[in-house]
Amino acid sequence: MPDRTPYIAANWKMHKTVAEAVAFVDALLPRIAATQHDVVLCPPFTALGAVVERRYGTAVRVAAQNMHEEEQGAFTGEISAPMLVELDVDAVVLGHSERRRLLGETDEALARKVPAALAAGLEPILCVGESEEERDAGQTEAVLERQLQADLAGVGSTDLAGVVIAYEPVWAIGTGRTATPEQAEEAIAFIRDVVRGRGGAAEELRILYGGSVKPDNAAELLGREEIDGALVGGAGLEPDSFSEIVEAAG
Ligand code: PEP
Repeated sequence: MPDRTPYIAANWKMHKTVAEAVAFVDALLPRIAATQHDVVLCPPFTALGAVVERRYGTAVRVAAQNMHEEEQGAFTGEISAPMLVELDVDAVVLGHSERRRLLGETDEALARKVPAALAAGLEPILCVGESEEERDAGQTEAVLERQLQADLAGVGSTDLAGVVIAYEPVWAIGTGRTATPEQAEEAIAFIRDVVRGRGGAAEELRILYGGSVKPDNAAELLGREEIDGALVGGAGLEPDSFSEIVEAAG
């Protein structure tokens, strides 16, 4: 089994001005100086450039929270992959459930965004996950399969290992309810099987868990063999709690 480098990402959502983002990076760097993990910050668009500048020479990587699938055009308010690459951004979160539920993100758009990110040299962090009603109705695997098949439709098998997938059950995001390690591991193993079924190098693929990860539950989740990292919301807003989660990854 290949060694998969732990991947810990902080999704700041619509939080932090440029000044706050820079202060966070300055406070975080000494706390994670020894880490060998991939540590990724996902600031809002306005703070991307400043965070990129501040992290040069460190292990910290930077991801945007969304992008448009086209390179340019009449799409008011949107940002394209080449614009992110020009800023030296490394990755992009795609398909976060808040964008799917609140902002009309569709699987059709994601099917174009994921290959567009890869083609531009950005690492897609593709979020998938079921709602509470879907889990209660026993549809978790069907939902994950549907999202993965749709969103990865335009990605060739040799490129699949370049995608990071985040399993984020919607009922666990920002609610304080965490999936049990067993639930998370079961869903992640299923996701790996779906990618394997598409001919991808599934053993190399990093699959994260996201949903109310905190310093006090991170070690238990991240200690599971199938769980390769975490996408962290609330606890990623403070350098102390985020660095404790990085540490908990081993
Ligand atoms: C998220 O925003 O992706 C997330 C998992 O948030 P939280 O950790 O706050 O549940």
